[in-house]
Amino acid sequence: MAETSKPTARDVIVVGAGVVGVCCALKLQMDGHRVTVVDPRPPGTGTSFGNAGAIAVGSVFPTATPGIWKDVPKMLLDPASPLRVDWRYVPQMLPWLLKFLAASTPSRVEAISHALRGLSKDGMRSHASLMKAHGIDGIVKPVGWLKVYPSEKSFEKTKLERETMARRGVSFDVLSADEIRQLEPNLSQKYTHGYHQSENGFVTSPVKLTRAYAEAFERLGGRFVAETARRFEMGEAGPRRLFTDLGVHDADLFVVAAGAWSGRVSKLLGLSLPIDTERGYHLNLDSEFAPELRRPVVIADKGFVLAPMTDGLRLTTGAEFAGVDAPPDFRRVYRMLDMAKEALPGLDPKVTREWLGFRPATPDSVPIIGPAPGMQNVLLAFGHSHIGLSLAARTAELIADLAAGREPDIDLAPYRAERF
Ligand SMILES: Cc1cc2nc3c(=O)[nH]c(=O)nc-3n(C[C@H](O)[C@H](O)[C@H](O)COP(=O)(O)OP(=O)(O)OC[C@H]3O[C@@H](n4cnc5c(N)ncnc54)[C@H](O)[C@@H]3O)c2cc1C
Repeated sequence: MAETSKPTARDVIVVGAGVVGVCCALKLQMDGHRVTVVDPRPPGTGTSFGNAGAIAVGSVFPTATPGIWKDVPKMLLDPASPLRVDWRYVPQMLPWLLKFLAASTPSRVEAISHALRGLSKDGMRSHASLMKAHGIDGIVKPVGWLKVYPSEKSFEKTKLERETMARRGVSFDVLSADEIRQLEPNLSQKYTHGYHQSENGFVTSPVKLTRAYAEAFERLGGRFVAETARRFEMGEAGPRRLFTDLGVHDADLFVVAAGAWSGRVSKLLGLSLPIDTERGYHLNLDSEFAPELRRPVVIADKGFVLAPMTDGLRLTTGAEFAGVDAPPDFRRVYRMLDMAKEALPGLDPKVTREWLGFRPATPDSVPIIGPAPGMQNVLLAFGHSHIGLSLAARTAELIADLAAGREPDIDLAPYRAERF
């Protein structure tokens, strides 16, 4: 950031109280603005509630990878595939899907990895600084993130991901079977290959972290209103009022951080942006009946994660393309319980929660961060896909800089909405 002086205070509305919206609201309030967050849900109880808890500083690989189009028939047909497309939803998401496939070429993936690294490298630093500023302690553990494979063949299949990480300067340790055992003694012996990213943080309760940020925001005078954004009244250079289901709010600046619903909220502003969702499920399992894990472990060949949260062992799954309105279909995640028992011998899965969340997905997996096209007083902060928890505090720093008229310390061109 070029300068740290306080900007002129403005009335700001943030739409969305997920981890991204709450971090933005907190940073804006810290700058002296008068901030109101509009969301019918309590802070952090949308998608930000149920993730796997990784602050993934090395996340540089998009969902659309070279050759993914070859996997589409399998996704449509295989009931155990970690990626699923609901064929009834395909016509509706076709424009997004075409952009998604276009983003999967080797040269696009290389450019995307630069853009993602540009944000993710600061993910942990930004959270650490925000937590320190508000005395938030004991929620994030420095235990890293382990990814394991049952064979050399399955490990080699994902070589491009590690090569890309290495090219972007991400540090990780490739592990032998013995080294995997030392890190996680209770994992099945069948995992012979893997790697550990020690710089990743682990949020042991994602909702607790968002709540802690929300409380800090309220202590500084910030306000939450439990309302749904319905309509903007437009002025000459952008919106000046937000009509919700329950009231009207005037503001000088509006921040859209409504996660997977940001496409709909942007539409209220007359913008057409390609935001869809990669739905993800979790089952929380009673940890009394689960052997101990020390960190989140990705069971790479089956496409699920086991994360030892404070409220239980959390099994999170891959991505389902079916939009935000279709009801949950928990069959696939329940099928994974047997695979989880294999991965963690001795696990007696007692389900304490079944949950569906909506990752806010751009076709290139890169979030949209920056001014709304053609509007001087709207900032966009959404589309963080698989790494919204990781990037929330970093996004908030950039949004606060833009709101203050400070020059951000990175080039925001790769994150602009105009790229679509
Ligand atoms: C299974 C799974 C595992 C994941 N694991 C990880 C992980 O390990 N690490 C990581 O970094 N990320 C992970 N993610 C991704 C991460 O959870 C998301 O990227 C992140 O939560 C998105 O945050 P958000 O604030 O943008 O959206 P949300 O948390 O969904 O918040 C959006 C909010 O906008 C509100 N809203 C919508 N419409 C309106 C409206 N009209 N008016 C007012 N408010 C509105 C909603 O009510 C909601 O509260 C995972 C996701 C899933 C599903």
